[in-house]
Amino acid sequence: MKEPVKIVLRSGKDQSVRRYHPWVFSGAIKKIGGNPADGDLVDVYSNKNEFLGRGHYQQGAIAVRILTFEDVEPDKPFWRKKLEYAYQLRQLSGLMDDPATNMFRLVNAEGDGVPGLIMDYYNGTVVFQAHSIGMYLMKDIWVECLQDVLGSTLKSVYNKSNGALPYYADVQPEDGFLYGEAFSEGLREHGCFFDLDWDQGQKTGFYLDQRENRHLLEHYAGGKKVLNVFSYTGGFSVYAVKGGASQVCSVDSSESAIQLGDKNLHLNFDKGELNHHAIVKDAFTFLQEIETEYEVIILDPPSFAKHKKVVPNALQGYKKLNAAAIAKIKPGGLLFTFSCSQPVQKEDFRRSVFTAAANQKRNVQVLHQLTQPADHPVNIFHPEGEYLKGLVVRVE
Ligand code: SAH
Repeated sequence: MKEPVKIVLRSGKDQSVRRYHPWVFSGAIKKIGGNPADGDLVDVYSNKNEFLGRGHYQQGAIAVRILTFEDVEPDKPFWRKKLEYAYQLRQLSGLMDDPATNMFRLVNAEGDGVPGLIMDYYNGTVVFQAHSIGMYLMKDIWVECLQDVLGSTLKSVYNKSNGALPYYADVQPEDGFLYGEAFSEGLREHGCFFDLDWDQGQKTGFYLDQRENRHLLEHYAGGKKVLNVFSYTGGFSVYAVKGGASQVCSVDSSESAIQLGDKNLHLNFDKGELNHHAIVKDAFTFLQEIETEYEVIILDPPSFAKHKKVVPNALQGYKKLNAAAIAKIKPGGLLFTFSCSQPVQKEDFRRSVFTAAANQKRNVQVLHQLTQPADHPVNIFHPEGEYLKGLVVRVE
């Protein structure tokens, strides 16, 4: 290991690191004892010269992502151990050998003690997505660790870091295969089949974090007229049809998303079984224009707030969207409503749904409070990792 550059924190700015928070913000730094490049290892010290941790350096607001709070070298055996521990969690939660589900998150960044890296498993293909330059530069080590831990179940590793790294990164992260040369097929989630748009698709291809929430919808959809807004891969729509919905409508503003959703519905059901239609339209416009009332509406919009500063606007957005949906729910119907905006707090999201219901003069009961599943674990010292919030409410 090259001798890490020493970074000294300002007095009092060591508290969060002492509480094992893995991020050091640039404003907390008093002195950088050298000229580290993006992705280099650095050692973090308190103002009193106490060692606090070792991590990846990067220009920007999060200057250091701490990899270890001990004075150890984060070498290949170190990472293999982290990956084994992550793998064991997926075994523990039954995902590793569930014949009905072969796609899940294998490594959830800070939540699995691997700051800056996401790896999603799709039936033998691992999609590698680095959010820090340090992790991106370690991609070859990660491929070796994956080979060691997954053995012959690993068919290929695809790097999809391009859109996830900062724009100034001069590592030129071209997306492509790091190992193997084909994407896996036969993707299943709770027995439903899915095809993904691997190259152009959002996230690592699929919103794996909604798996259990989609499954819950299946339970409620029987005989109901269902509207899936922000439908993307058609995930919720597939489960609604599977659950016996009498009619399902998917809405998304992206033409390619609507095509993908349609494809996934046809992958699962024969034409005769399908009472599904898909509409390319802005969600707000659609909800305002329709006259139909639905018995179940799903709202799973993209993040409305990436930073704290825009949270008030995001909450206004949630209020408006939920009010528009509540207005179109049949009395006694259900609303599945989500927010994946990390800086929006659960209580604030809930209040925006509450205000939306009050504005519509509709009484609402909360049936379920939803979040991300166990393959998206949250490091208790890094509450920022808990981002998905959802409510299932019954609207009188
Ligand atoms: N529910 C999906 C994930 C939704 S991702 C699933 O289970 O897979 C968010 C989707 O919202 C994207 O497909 C995006 O194209 C769509 N979107 C973004 N803005 C929109 C808008 N104003 N109106 C309708 N769809 C929108």
